Amino acid sequence: MITVFDDAQRAHDPQFFLSSGARKPCPEQPARIDALLGAVRRMGGPVVQAPDAGLAPILAVHPARYVTFLSGIYERWMRIDGASAEVIPNVHPASRLDGYPLSAVGQAGFHMTDTSCPISAQTWGAAYASAQTALHAADLVLGGENAAYALCRPPGHHAFAESAGGFCYLNNSGIAAQRLTDAGRRVAILDVDLHHGNGTQGMFYARGDVLTVSLHAHPERFYPFFWGYEGEFGEGAGLGANLNLPLPRGTGDAGFLDALAQGIEKVQAWGADTLVLALGLDAFEGDPFAGLSVTTPGFAAIGRAVAAMGLPVVIVQEGGYLCDQLGDNLEAVLRAW
Ligand SMILES: [Zn+2]
Repeated sequence: MITVFDDAQRAHDPQFFLSSGARKPCPEQPARIDALLGAVRRMGGPVVQAPDAGLAPILAVHPARYVTFLSGIYERWMRIDGASAEVIPNVHPASRLDGYPLSAVGQAGFHMTDTSCPISAQTWGAAYASAQTALHAADLVLGGENAAYALCRPPGHHAFAESAGGFCYLNNSGIAAQRLTDAGRRVAILDVDLHHGNGTQGMFYARGDVLTVSLHAHPERFYPFFWGYEGEFGEGAGLGANLNLPLPRGTGDAGFLDALAQGIEKVQAWGADTLVLALGLDAFEGDPFAGLSVTTPGFAAIGRAVAAMGLPVVIVQEGGYLCDQLGDNLEAVLRAW
């Protein structure tokens, strides 16, 4: 399998993370790349860098004012007397249908759903490279590859069309799905990250042309809290094109694989001809987020179940945090192809 990777993704290095209000080191660190890339190198497949496909395929799912915000807010923030070293929001609208301010502080609150998506001088470049990485993996599949792995970082599935959140800025899986849809494919996004793919769901919620399915720790006691419940089926043209499979905290391989079988059944019933696998590895029993208890053999079984669908697949890296088995878990999934 071809891996797509861009070293420019390393430059983004958030300085802290607020967990229950306490300041901690950010788990979404550049070192994640070394663990994931190490696994890819052990497997021995080709690693290629994405060509620059430009902004147009990003603008196909993210409005221009959001892209303008992401690419320019750091410089604007630095002009504020006494501002923090990274852009961190501290005021939010009750609804994003509310007014759109001119102020950098106001726009940060508008476009950032939480404090875990700080923006430094390097963030836009890394997020852009991450999106290009997913796009190229989609193009490889459109060119006839059976599967391609996009080693994306920062991740993307918590990014809505107009807002960053949860370590995510541009929705790489959504951008890849749009690329495939524009080429005539009927696309399903299957998200197996520990956390609900709220940004991806939101991006396609009113659309009937892309199916979104997410397995995750139940949001009633877990991030992202406000999305990911069983009753969210889509709206308007998208009604029936979203499926959430929330799992009790601590669910292990058997429960996860049962839910995965339901998700796969939905993808097949919907008639997808191409799959985007939003591959988080943080459902692992040893992941620092400690939400679910999937084992390394469990990840191998996840890979086999998805590969057995026989669909062309763009595998997009989402979460999965530093622990000794991070690379092993990636390898366990990718070996299925
Ligand atoms: Zn996650």
